[in-house]
Amino acid sequence: MEVSNELHPRQPVVVSDKETGTSYILSELLGKGAFAKCYLSKEIGTERLFAVKVVSSSILSDKQHGCFIREEIAIHSLLHHKNIVNFKKAFTENLSLYIVLELCSNGSLKQLMKQRNQLSLVETKYMLKHILTGVKYLHDKDIVHGDLKLENIFLSSRMIPKIGDFGLSTLISYEEDLLTDYCGTMNYMAPEIISHGGHSFAVDIWAVGCILYKMISGKLPFETHSQNVKEKILSCDFDPHHPGLRKKISNFIMKILNKHPRKRPSAEDLLQDEFLSNSFIPSLLPVSCLWEAPMHR
Ligand code: ADP
Repeated sequence: MEVSNELHPRQPVVVSDKETGTSYILSELLGKGAFAKCYLSKEIGTERLFAVKVVSSSILSDKQHGCFIREEIAIHSLLHHKNIVNFKKAFTENLSLYIVLELCSNGSLKQLMKQRNQLSLVETKYMLKHILTGVKYLHDKDIVHGDLKLENIFLSSRMIPKIGDFGLSTLISYEEDLLTDYCGTMNYMAPEIISHGGHSFAVDIWAVGCILYKMISGKLPFETHSQNVKEKILSCDFDPHHPGLRKKISNFIMKILNKHPRKRPSAEDLLQDEFLSNSFIPSLLPVSCLWEAPMHR
């Protein structure tokens, strides 16, 4: 059954994985990406909830898009970690592709930042620690995510941050290999991508620096209306003394947003940094953080 092109299917649609005999009821539209629409889904029989991404046959038949999606599935299916959106399976029915994912019912960090604008220091450290733990896991598996941004950090029902959307990820075969193609998001783009010198794991660290800056200050470090973003990034022109930043955090951000990729710390280095290792970080955040700062500000 082809899923309706409308934003909300008028009535729930049932899709089946013929290989296992499992069926899913697709209901509310959770979001729309470049290639897929994602629906809240219930597995018939177990009543478990999932997020099912639906990629239409027209997208799949495009050679380049089809290739990106196959690569996304190949990489995502290798990953099992608490800070990575869990991939359950993918199947096709009537030429559409269905990707069954762990449901992140509290949306994305992008939605949270839209609601809150700025996070407290404790919340920021909590998010950062989880994001870096996920990035370390990916890098240990020789995977560059390639598109880390607020939209791709999802929040589970228990407010655990999870990295998702592996559409631009790459498995590096040799440690010294450098990537040359990049189609990620401009505001999070590392200088070595812009200068076309080849890039690798350090682009994810740069993107984490941008996410961190945004969480604590409410603004992306290289966001601009008046100037060329690429020029700002190339000259590492961001304000480390933004009023929302404290000294300790600006020093930490300056370590991350280093324009020389080889001098940028690894995810492991950052997790060990006293900024994270020597401070109070709660084991969980309350769901009320979605709309208001917790008391421990
Ligand atoms: P695309 O591969 O087309 O870029 P995305 O991965 O960005 O698609 O997903 C599209 C939207 O679906 C997201 O912006 C988000 O709103 C929603 N979404 C994706 N994965 C999940 C998930 N695991 N849980 C909840 N919502 C999700």
